[in-house]
Amino acid sequence: MNAELISVGTEILLGQIVNTNAAWLAQRLAELGVNVYRQETIGDNLERLSMAIRESLDRADILILTGGLGPTDDDLTREGVAMAMSLSLEEDGAQRQWLEERLGQRMTENNLKQALKPAGAIILPNPGGTACGYAVPADGRWVFMLPGPPWEMEAMYRDHVRPFLQRTYALNTHLYSRILHFIGIGESALETELLDLMRRQKDPSMALYAKTGEIELRLTTRAETEELAMAQITPLEEQIRNRVGQHLYGYDDDTLFTVTAKMLLERGLTLSVAESCTGGLLGNLYTDIPGSSGFFCGGWIAYSNEMKMQHLGVPAEILERYGAVSARTVAAMSQGARSASGSDLAISISGVAGPGGGSESKPVGLIYQALASQEGTLLFRNTYSQDRLRNKFRAAKQSAYLLWLYLQGLPVPAANQATLEN
Ligand code: ATP
Ligand code: MG
Repeated sequence: MNAELISVGTEILLGQIVNTNAAWLAQRLAELGVNVYRQETIGDNLERLSMAIRESLDRADILILTGGLGPTDDDLTREGVAMAMSLSLEEDGAQRQWLEERLGQRMTENNLKQALKPAGAIILPNPGGTACGYAVPADGRWVFMLPGPPWEMEAMYRDHVRPFLQRTYALNTHLYSRILHFIGIGESALETELLDLMRRQKDPSMALYAKTGEIELRLTTRAETEELAMAQITPLEEQIRNRVGQHLYGYDDDTLFTVTAKMLLERGLTLSVAESCTGGLLGNLYTDIPGSSGFFCGGWIAYSNEMKMQHLGVPAEILERYGAVSARTVAAMSQGARSASGSDLAISISGVAGPGGGSESKPVGLIYQALASQEGTLLFRNTYSQDRLRNKFRAAKQSAYLLWLYLQGLPVPAANQATLEN
């Protein structure tokens, strides 16, 4: 079973609106096991639209069009489908009556266009607007027309198109995915570790995605129930865990923040933060997690040297001699935060977020972190090469990584090690 999508609207071609409808529909069709082979965008032009529809119908079993069903002159999808399939447009009595009742005095001449349908089409009611949708049979294929506004389009797909497709094509399996989150290993290294599996493996399928500072591996299969799907996925997941389990930190919706928060709660450990260049972002991200009061004590946004000295007890000599962006400074910040808050663990961050402020020895993107605990102070250093906001986010995320390493009893990777001397 294969499908094509045509998004209608000059404003999409001009980049004035983003084509979220196609992305949404493509995901829904994939869940049903329908292969989407092409997505196309056509402006509000009758000739080009009907040509695109004709071409799609030469290839696809199912064609879904969105947009262009309004009452105005540039809404041409009905006309385009009728022209491509050599069907006449005829008035649907029930639809006209529904429009008259709904619009009353507001009904204008051009609204009558919305009571027209290509001969033989089934009307799909719209819960939110005046533009109804259509299902048009085409020699064993089906053409669906849905309105452009995403909320209406989505509701109509769920209420009418999906059940119709499931019935017509006996589609009763669903797509299930399990996402594995990896940290501390690059995309190419991870692929190398798993290459033979990835080449051999057809079902469940394996796909790697590089995300901000981490890698996602998606295992996907099709089955009638979630239980059956997991029975397919679990043995593969186990093989993967055996090879690269030391880098696997979570599943599905897990993030480094939620995973480390859970570990802290389970172990009854508390955390405080001392943030310079991240300006409170780390504390913000931890407090986004419901129940964070169970482990998060609070912290300092110690941006100036004065704050670092007065509130965290960073010695003036360290700031003078080594600078605010240094291993010694973050070590002192984390120790100061830990003793002032009484928390079990304290994380500190200081760096050059950019775009300015870098020097030869302290380039833009250089960020130091420290984690103070009963056992001592772990140091971590990295250099990021993105813009200011991304560098801040990467640094906050890296702190959660440092915490994860500590809680797992794993060493700081060689590339990120720092000593008090640097
Ligand atoms: P209406 O009756 O609202 O005019 P319509 O079917 O004629 O519905 P369009 O005129 O093509 O739809 O689009 C209406 C609005 O819907 C657009 O201005 C846009 O906000 C949204 N829209 C249309 N197509 C898309 C799309 N592919 N992705 C996201 N939004 C869309
Ligand atoms: Mg319109």
